[in-house]
Order: sequence, then structure tokens, then C-alpha cells
Amino acid sequence: MAKKQFKSESKRLLDLMINSIYTNKDIFLRELISNASDALDKLYYRSLTDKKIKVKKEDLEINLSFDKDKRLLTISDNGCGMTKEELDNNLGVIAKSGSLSFKENMTKKEKTDIIGQFGVGFYSAFMVSDKITVNSLSVDESQAYSWESKGIDGYTIEECDKKTHGTDIILHIKEDDSENNYSKYLDEYELKNLVRKYYEDHKEIETLNSMVPIWKKSKDEVTDADYENFYMDKFSDYDKPLKVISMSGEGLASFKALLFIPSHAPYDYYTQDYEKGLSLYSNGVLIMDKCADLLPDYFSFVKGVVDSEDLSLNISREMLQESQNLKIIAKNIESKIRRELEDMLKNDRETYISFFKTFGVQLKYGVYNNYGADKDKLKDLVMFYSAHHEKLITLKEYAEEMKEGQDKIYYASGSSIEKINSLPQVEQVRDKDYDILYLTDYV
Ligand code: ADP
Repeated sequence: MAKKQFKSESKRLLDLMINSIYTNKDIFLRELISNASDALDKLYYRSLTDKKIKVKKEDLEINLSFDKDKRLLTISDNGCGMTKEELDNNLGVIAKSGSLSFKENMTKKEKTDIIGQFGVGFYSAFMVSDKITVNSLSVDESQAYSWESKGIDGYTIEECDKKTHGTDIILHIKEDDSENNYSKYLDEYELKNLVRKYYEDHKEIETLNSMVPIWKKSKDEVTDADYENFYMDKFSDYDKPLKVISMSGEGLASFKALLFIPSHAPYDYYTQDYEKGLSLYSNGVLIMDKCADLLPDYFSFVKGVVDSEDLSLNISREMLQESQNLKIIAKNIESKIRRELEDMLKNDRETYISFFKTFGVQLKYGVYNNYGADKDKLKDLVMFYSAHHEKLITLKEYAEEMKEGQDKIYYASGSSIEKINSLPQVEQVRDKDYDILYLTDYV
């Protein structure tokens, strides 16, 4: 059987991959499952227009199986499959654009970035396999073909026996070495955990197909209780969220987001240990658990998920930070949260005050942080204790009640309302009947 060569750029990329700059080898599973899931979708959509193709949605499935002794892990789908040409074209090339700049002696970051530009895709399986066999029968053909490769030195394609349409990807898993425990990919418990990690928010974990995460469903398909349960489950909170915000963005970067304002501060919220961030998904598949760049510090209490098809699954952390799409999404999210809070203050003051008592200090911190760069964004959201009203009011409300001739906002700081009340200066101002804002928070 004649061996075919990979295209030269593919070869170099493959080389990078096999010599594994990616420390996170687990992602190969996510890649192969996404491909399988795409193949199911493709077949299903074909069946809607092509009468010759008969499939029932519920029969479409992806299966994982393994053989510990032979060190084989198989990912099977009964999707559209690939013809001989498709095997050759799709699996023989990685680089879809020819503008790769390989240099000698690249740093680890440069290598990672190159891979990030492509999406590691199918080839990531070489990080964990000595040999890969792909047996596939296309819905458009009656003969099945087997593609096989041990890596850089090429691949073969020959006829094989496969009766049903779809693809079996058979990985011959590498032997363990001092740095890597490849055997975990041959362990049921570990595999289930991995699948769960990447697809944890899909309703059906056992059957990987027809997975629609809650944030992709339209609002009328989902009840308030569904959102609340999702929140409590995913973010391990025993209380319902104070506010659920569902949003989507179109245009430069399209995305869907499901955001939650907790009803109480997490136990570690005001400590160094607290990590802000939103879970970031690309088309339903997890990219990063806590993407900090999606939230400004002053909204660090917000929890939630963001899903954008405009982000590549394999984008590295460094590239993500520079991603224009991510910046646009973050900006949209920031202004949406702000508008929702302003609305709450206007229309549901009681809830807002409960929110402010929990997270107000963070907003005040936001006002003064960064040399006040964000103060205009936050000035209508902060509240202060008013000596006149003996409750929280906004700056606007203070200004509206200023007396004739009063051209300043008076405030006094101290550790408690009682202590401030007994300050002699406070009395002088009160004699003029000016209101005073009491600053008792330690910011
Ligand atoms: P990407 O998925 O980003 O296009 P991959 O390297 O992962 O890149 O896959 C290359 C191509 O191979 C896919 O676009 C698809 O056409 C084909 N392919 C991969 N896996 C399957 C599969 N299980 N069934 C059908 N086609 C597949």
C-alpha cells in the first residue's frame, strides 16, 4: 500500500503537536467528540432535504469504547462519514491557509500560538496516540475506507469493511512515560470525568448527541426554575440567584450569555482567593472555566456562562487575551450588567438595596480604583447613608434635595453611624439643614 505524504505545513504542525507543546493533552477528546457531533448534524441536515437519506434524530449517536489490553480507544459516530476523497483531503492537511511562518528555534509561546491559529482539530489525537485508524463509510458511497497513520511519515488509505454509515476513530494509545499517564484514556471513570468536564452543562451526558445547553434555548423553552436550578447546580450555591440576566449579541462578535447576580456573597468573596470570571464556551464546548477578562473587577461578583461561535476552541490563553472578539463581548456584558442594575434600582429598589448591601463595597471600590477611570459608569449605582433620610440614597437623590446656596456635597466618614453622628463638624452642617452622606464602608 503506497504511503501518502502529508502536505509540508501539515507535517510541521503535526510535528509540533506530537512533540506536544500542549500540556493539556485531554483536549483531543473534546476535538474528536466535536467532529463526531458535527458529522451527526451534517447527516441530519442532509436528511431534511435529501429523501434518500433516512435518519431519526434519536438514533444519531456517539459512542466511546476502549480496550485496556490492546490500548485502544474508539470514538464512533453514525453520522455522514467520509468518502475516500474526503479522508484524503480532510485528514491529509491541517493548514488551511498557507501563511504559516515557521521559524527555527521557536519559543514555546510561538509554537502554542501557531497551533492556536488553526485549531488543533483531529491531529490533536496524535498527542496521545502512536497510531490512528479512521474507518469511515460515507452516506454517499457503498464502499468504506480506512485511513491510517503513525504520524509524520505519512498515511495510507485502503478499502475496508464497514456496513453502516459513520466513522470510527481508533486511537492506539501511547505507553505511559515519566511525565504522562496516557492510560487514563483507557479508564472508564477518567473518560467519564473528561466528557463531563467538557460537556457538563448539557442535559444528556450519557448520550452525547442532541445536546442543547440551557443558554442556547430560547427563553420561552426555559422556566425561571430551570435557570435557578442551573445556577445553583453549576455554581454550587444553596440559594437562588438574586437576578438572572439572559442576553445575546449579534454583529461583530455573536454570543449568548447567561449571567447571575448571587443573592449573597460567596464565602471567599472579599478574600484574595476569590477568582472572578465567566465560563467561556465555543458552541457549547468549554474553552475556559473562569475567563477573568470577561468581567471588570467592579462586577466580579457576577457568575455565568458565555458562548460564542466566533471563538476557536483551541485558542490559547495568550491569544484569548488579545482577541478582539472577546473584548467586544466583555464590553457588551459590562454595559448590560450596568443597565440591569440601573433598572433594578429604578423599578425594584428593595431588591437593589439588598444587592447593594451585599456587593456595594465592590462598586465603591470600582469608583476609586484605576484613578477613578470608571467613576462615571458607576456613579448612578452607588448609594450612601443619608443623615436626613436615615437610609441609603443615591448621589442624584442627594443633589436633587440640595438647599438654596448649597454647592457642595457634604460627607463624613467614620466607622459607624453613631460615631459620625457625634462629630462636632456634623452638627454645624446639620444646623444649616444640609444633608450629609455618611461613609462607613471600609473601601
Ligand atoms: P475542523 O473540525 O476544525 O475542520 P479537523 O482537523 O478536526 O478540523 O477535521 C477536519 C475535517 O475532517 C472536518 O472538517 C470534517 O470534514 C472531517 N471529519 C473529522 N472527523 C469527522 C467525523 N467523525 N465524521 C465526518 N467527518 C469528519
